[in-house]
Amino acid sequence: MKKTEYSNSNKKNYDGYKSFQYLESGVDYQEYKLAKEIGRVPAYTYPVSEDQEEIVQGILAEENIVSMHEHTFVTPENVNEFYEFRRQGRDWTGYEALSISGLDVIFENFMDGTAMITSQAGWKWNDVIHDLGIRMSDIEHQDMVFMAKRIDDLYRAKKEGKIAFVGALESCSMIENELDRLDILYGFGIRTMGVVYSEANMLGSGLREPNDSGLSVFGKQAVHRMNKLGITIDVSHSGDKTALDTIETSSKPVTINHAGARALWDTRRMKPDDVIKACAARGGVIAIEAAPHSTVTKNHPRHNIESFMEHFEYTANLVGIEHVAFGPDTLFGDHVGLHDLLSGKLSIKSSQKDDLERVEYVEGIENPAESFPNIIRWLVKHGYSHEDIKKVIGTNIFRVLKETWAK
Ligand SMILES: [Zn+2]
Repeated sequence: MKKTEYSNSNKKNYDGYKSFQYLESGVDYQEYKLAKEIGRVPAYTYPVSEDQEEIVQGILAEENIVSMHEHTFVTPENVNEFYEFRRQGRDWTGYEALSISGLDVIFENFMDGTAMITSQAGWKWNDVIHDLGIRMSDIEHQDMVFMAKRIDDLYRAKKEGKIAFVGALESCSMIENELDRLDILYGFGIRTMGVVYSEANMLGSGLREPNDSGLSVFGKQAVHRMNKLGITIDVSHSGDKTALDTIETSSKPVTINHAGARALWDTRRMKPDDVIKACAARGGVIAIEAAPHSTVTKNHPRHNIESFMEHFEYTANLVGIEHVAFGPDTLFGDHVGLHDLLSGKLSIKSSQKDDLERVEYVEGIENPAESFPNIIRWLVKHGYSHEDIKKVIGTNIFRVLKETWAK
């Protein structure tokens, strides 16, 4: 069959909308040249036979395709402009690329740790609220993407040719010592939150901390509040003890929505077997990360779809296919360049090992538009059944959301 770029049969009703087209460039905001949403790096199609491609397209057309972790913003083409661009507090969403991504539901993590509008340190309450408001205002001006507030919304997306965003934040740092801020964020559409990013906050210790004393008293209160509100709790960036405490404290399943297995690649950003097992034992799900230089393995020291899928298979073998999914954690723009620029701010160094082969980008899972068709191709080629693929690309995640959301 003819291999078109990012071909997939899960078409969305996209009318050509571009972010902030309702405003006037140069009058209402300063224009920066943004990275190409489509075609910034050569398109990569995981090689499969014609028969296998037919199965892949059938799955894309029929099943709910869910990414458990992305940042769908578009960075400036020149990443060195990133700090001044950020101070404007206005992020463009890659709608056109998303329309051909094959995705029905996306956990959208917004600026997150790069919310550096008024502060270089990020995570400030005002900056997070500013970011959410601007992005959601843009979303309200178009018809393809909408915020998922309830379980029904997750199923509605595919039926209506739309994409549902699950509002997500990777840390509770911005709530400081105010539990009610969790209610406020829920009101603004946030449905999943990490307890802590790589550095410690009021709730507990992040993966960078040498001394992880577990979930604090305030952290326990925040976990209870999130359980009551219906916010799905995530421990992707937590230290190991804080992660285990969170899983034990939460009355609902807890997720690891973007990580990999430390048994395959020994960095703190990867999860050890005991944390993965505890997460699964309480009904949680572990979604595999693909940000550059993260899910590498000894067998595949060059980060690509093979090393990424080795983390998937290892985790599935450890805890069962019902507890595994994918959270590639990609964006539109030069992700490696951004990592280099933000290295200190995002604790990238403590998340990576030195003895890996550096790449300019992760072939096949470089951005939110190309990952899932390639992941499904890999799964079909490696003999996974339609039933198992359906679980890992969607229903495992829906199960956890049904158990953790209010409605
Ligand atoms: Zn992250």
